Amino acid sequence: SDKIAKAFEDEILATGLENEVKVIRTGCFGLCALGPIVVIYPEGSFYSMVKEEDVKEIVDEHLLKGRPVTRLLYDETVAEDNTVKSLDDTAFYKKQKRIALRNCGVINPENIDEYIAFDGYQALGKVLTEMTPDDVIQTILDSGLRGRGGAGFPTGRKWQLASGNRGNVQKYVCCNADEGDPGAFMDRSVLEGDPHVVIEAMAIAGYAIGASQGYVYIRAEYPIAVHRLQVAIDQAREYGLLGNNIFGTDFCFDLDIKLGAGAFVCGEETALMTSIEGKRGEPRPRPPFPAVKGLFGKPTILNNVETYANVPQIILKGADWFASMGTEKSKGTKVFALGGKIKNTGLVEIPMGTTLRTIVEEIGGGIPGGKKFKAAQTGGPSGGCIPASLIDTPIDYDNLLAIGSMMGSGGLIVMDEDTCMVDIAKFFLEFTVDESCGKCTPCRVGTKRLLELLNKITDGKGTMEDLDKITELAEFIKSNSLCGLGQTAPNPVLSTLRYFRDEYVEHIVNKR
Ligand code: SF4
Repeated sequence: SDKIAKAFEDEILATGLENEVKVIRTGCFGLCALGPIVVIYPEGSFYSMVKEEDVKEIVDEHLLKGRPVTRLLYDETVAEDNTVKSLDDTAFYKKQKRIALRNCGVINPENIDEYIAFDGYQALGKVLTEMTPDDVIQTILDSGLRGRGGAGFPTGRKWQLASGNRGNVQKYVCCNADEGDPGAFMDRSVLEGDPHVVIEAMAIAGYAIGASQGYVYIRAEYPIAVHRLQVAIDQAREYGLLGNNIFGTDFCFDLDIKLGAGAFVCGEETALMTSIEGKRGEPRPRPPFPAVKGLFGKPTILNNVETYANVPQIILKGADWFASMGTEKSKGTKVFALGGKIKNTGLVEIPMGTTLRTIVEEIGGGIPGGKKFKAAQTGGPSGGCIPASLIDTPIDYDNLLAIGSMMGSGGLIVMDEDTCMVDIAKFFLEFTVDESCGKCTPCRVGTKRLLELLNKITDGKGTMEDLDKITELAEFIKSNSLCGLGQTAPNPVLSTLRYFRDEYVEHIVNKR
């Protein structure tokens, strides 16, 4: 994309259009399968899979002569009479509702003025000048926002637990941008496309609980996100939106970035805080919970990037607006990273309660090569597989738990009829065996033994008794591990065993 942007800049200069046309690098549009993408404004013409050699034609025809190059446009935006349709009318975008992703692909993430032009920092201004900290917490509670990074704990409740003793105790606001699930890239995209929304939300959280310092814990493997976030922090400081006396009030709040070294367990809240403290990133027993004794032993709240990305809009539009979307106990929208055997791989944001069928068949465009849908894995290595028989399940926190999966951070990997489900279980288990920090025995030893049993089965040496041993061991690991990593590691095994037991049996019976 960088090469294409450069080619546009050169061509625009060569044709003398540099005073009329600007090339802006944005964040992700969501339709990753069709990248690199170029959108020409004001029309919003959506060019997909653009190559460097296409640039001259787009400049000559579209920018100079006003004639869109229809053969290069995303085909779903070209009507039968060759007129260009809005992107919102395409199957991929029609059923989406973009709140967390609303600015991604729209604004230049390295320009604070563009964020401000799209209502940026208005919510922070509103809370500091019109709301008490308790009003802010009540609004988040009433909205029904639940944590988007894992188990779905109510965000307002978390803030409330850390809100006592404001002004007398040092407190911290942390952001989990460690996103370690294979196949998940929602948080990276928000930070690359709209970093100011996270800064604004963290400042709002700081005001709500009485914290003056925040940390964003982000994977070092996300260099663009790290760079854009740092640029955004510097700009916010320059504009007086971070630092002392924000909006002329006595509220002071600042933010720093802490880089993670790619350990999956550091996405667990206590391990993340231990890592920020400069120690080896290992989970700590709870209680005490971080809201009471978190980072450096002080009251701390931790939310993930997507959770924060909802906060400014909730403050501006109200709790009722947010709570009007979704299901009874899961409000708002959820971002999913759609991957695997699906046509439209990319980033989608859907109202809670949308069915898996709508995601796979309509938004995702179905399975390539006319293959049949077999299952979808949500929640990455902590989640489970949803079989085709449950494709009409409305997706929300409780429904996913009821069918043996979980929301997790939002990876959604689609599998077709050719996928071996035992291999899928092995893939995720190999990942957790690798990422186990080793602190507690059920996870450190148990997951290894579980993997050995799965390997025995796929090597054609398994027995039917091994299936019982797998279930027993998996349940033991779940109920005896110290942290979420171990407690959820057996989920892919248990869910594939629940819905695809015949495939395990087939390996055993046919000795392959
Ligand atoms: Fe470490 Fe696994 Fe125990 Fe968590 S469950 S503390 S990752 S060994």
